[in-house]
Amino acid sequence: MNKRELARFRKLVEEERERVLKKLGVIGEEISDRTSNKASGSQGYSNHMADIGSDAMEQEQAFLHASQGTDYLRRLDDALKRIEDGTYGVCEECSSKIPVKRLEAYLAAKLCVDCKSKQEKLQRS
Ligand SMILES: [Zn+2]
Repeated sequence: MNKRELARFRKLVEEERERVLKKLGVIGEEISDRTSNKASGSQGYSNHMADIGSDAMEQEQAFLHASQGTDYLRRLDDALKRIEDGTYGVCEECSSKIPVKRLEAYLAAKLCVDCKSKQEKLQRS
């Protein structure tokens, strides 16, 4: 990948990172809001078991999103590192070039399509 392409992808990855960070910030606030609500305790309505159930489930989902987001963030950081190294867009497995279209679709891609599908087959079996 040439310097101009690398610079373009660096911008894309940084923008994506920013977006994920913002999203994670929002989810983090949501979680702390709920927790502080519970701590202050509105006794009247928390007597309803159904309410408590759905509330806990929503909170769990928010946590799940947050952890997936953190994982994605880690991948994006990794991609930035590879952009710095100049190894971005090169398959980790077979060292062949990852098509730009694939990278545009998934900025944190580390494997070419062949290696990715091989890996998926291995994981499934
Ligand atoms: Zn490969």
